[in-house]
Amino acid sequence: MARIELVDLAHSYGGNAADPDCWALKPISMTWRQGGAYALLGPSGCGKTTLLNLISGIVTPSRGKILFDGKDITLLSTQKRNIAQVFQFPVIYDTMTVGQNLAFPLQNRGVPKAEIDARVAEIARLLDLTPYLNRKATRLTADAKQKISLGRGLVRSDVAAVLFDEPLTVIDPELKWQLRSKLKALHRELDLTMIYVTHDQTEALTFADTVVVMHDGRVVQSGTPAELFDKPAHTFVGYFIGSPGMNIVPAEVAGRQARISGHRIALNRSYDRLPPGAKVEIGVRPEFVTVEPPTPELLTANIERIDDLGRVQFARVRIGDVKFNARVPPGFSIPDRQAGLRFDPSRVHVYADSRLVEGAA
Ligand code: ATP
Repeated sequence: MARIELVDLAHSYGGNAADPDCWALKPISMTWRQGGAYALLGPSGCGKTTLLNLISGIVTPSRGKILFDGKDITLLSTQKRNIAQVFQFPVIYDTMTVGQNLAFPLQNRGVPKAEIDARVAEIARLLDLTPYLNRKATRLTADAKQKISLGRGLVRSDVAAVLFDEPLTVIDPELKWQLRSKLKALHRELDLTMIYVTHDQTEALTFADTVVVMHDGRVVQSGTPAELFDKPAHTFVGYFIGSPGMNIVPAEVAGRQARISGHRIALNRSYDRLPPGAKVEIGVRPEFVTVEPPTPELLTANIERIDDLGRVQFARVRIGDVKFNARVPPGFSIPDRQAGLRFDPSRVHVYADSRLVEGAA
């Protein structure tokens, strides 16, 4: 396994190559630690696969370098990079048994038989494939075949990194949650550097220690799941992570106060130096705005509907032209579709041109 450094790495597939703003991957520099579990998360077309393919060597970057443990591997072939890959669809040999499939990447590298047997047994145990070891892969379900693919990706202990590109796409929804937690446990046991591409926030947040959120070819934030939830560095992260996402609304902000549609909201910190001319917004997660019976002290809002998500309810409310999602406490009943909104000031963030602004104490 390896520490992976991306140094001013960027890629253009052609098109308007003179303008880096149009590139599929805008310049990024970051370091991923040896043995870490990383997820690349973002919507379709944001550049996740491009970044993964640059790391694996399938694509050569237009600019910048990639280092594995300090060694520049930018121009090395995929094979020489010593990485394992798991794709969306199973890549296995149907005519071989499950055990032969798992052993194949090790046989290819001349690993001694005793070592192969031990490693295959360990990986089969971790993936619950032991009962199938002597079965031909061809007779198995798509789920089981993808488990074999995962096993083939994980079986070598000498790889610099294991790269996963949306590996649970073909997995039955019922099994998906089991495999998600299993992959996390596998990471703990196997001590490999793993990079996992997905557009599914639940997959990313369950699997990774560090989630790298991408938007429009840029990394907009890299952090733990808690950091992404508590303090989104970019409005896109606030909106993309969470269900429902963060409320992001235009506001006038001065000192310790924000105004939306003429109503005042207290802030925990002071914002006196916002960049002139910037688009100013506040962001607050629905979990930290509570619907209560209206009082003069609270901001009054009209309730448009209540969404019952099972264990929790959120109200869709309107203040003037501005729409919000807010948490409905258990047992709350709506008197006449009017409610008071209570904001937790420590959870209200200020954004200028979509970027988080740190206020002063
Ligand atoms: P998805 O989840 O849909 O695969 P992604 O986040 O992985 O999306 P990429 O596949 O990296 O995104 O694509 C990023 C951008 O680069 C997109 O605008 C895409 O159209 C473009 N792109 C990707 N591959 C190529 C290619 N081989 N040639 C030209 N443009 C490409």
